Amino acid sequence: MASLMITSECIGCAECLEVCEDEAIEERGDRFHITSACTECGACEPICPVQCIVRSYEGPAPAVGSAS
Ligand code: SF4
Ligand code: SF4
Repeated sequence: MASLMITSECIGCAECLEVCEDEAIEERGDRFHITSACTECGACEPICPVQCIVRSYEGPAPAVGSAS
């Protein structure tokens, strides 16, 4: 299952707060975080000016390439 997270590249512009309809983004100190209320709608991903909203995958990492 994928979940979204905000990396340390966040500059705190609050653009993502504006687009999140589920109020799943909150400010903690000088960093922004995505909470468990996130429905993974993806609306916040393209609007981040520094592309610091990324998808993380839980569980085994998908294989990259394949041994041949
Ligand atoms: S993916 Fe959607 S619900 Fe989740 S934090 Fe971004 S805008 Fe909010
Ligand atoms: S849009 Fe990106 S840089 Fe701006 S507050 Fe959200 S995560 Fe941080």
